[in-house]
Amino acid sequence: MNKPQIRTDYVFPKTVEELEFGPCCRTGVLLEGNAGWRTLRPVVHHELCVKCGTCWTICPDGVIDRNIDIDYNFCKGCGLCAHECPKKAIEMVLEVGEDA
Ligand code: SF4
Ligand code: SF4
Repeated sequence: MNKPQIRTDYVFPKTVEELEFGPCCRTGVLLEGNAGWRTLRPVVHHELCVKCGTCWTICPDGVIDRNIDIDYNFCKGCGLCAHECPKKAIEMVLEVGEDA
């Protein structure tokens, strides 16, 4: 899966001109998992999923793989996948703790 990777070699730019451009996973902004600011998490009900790929296509963070498994280290909980799923196979549930 082509999902975001944590960059350990990133050096913060000193000027605007030094800023890299591109998807966040390549600019160095994504230095660690961004799950910390998620209040809701998407849960896939695989028995309802027809593998249409809509969620895989639409996820802005690219954290859903082709098996429709979600990388919770990087999912920010935006809910787009659940909103767009034609089968309502993704449910957004409240985060209730570290091992939720
Ligand atoms: S909630 Fe947002 S970031 Fe998380 S898997 Fe769904 S679309 Fe991607
Ligand atoms: S959008 Fe819904 S039905 Fe389509 S692959 Fe994703 S979870 Fe499955």
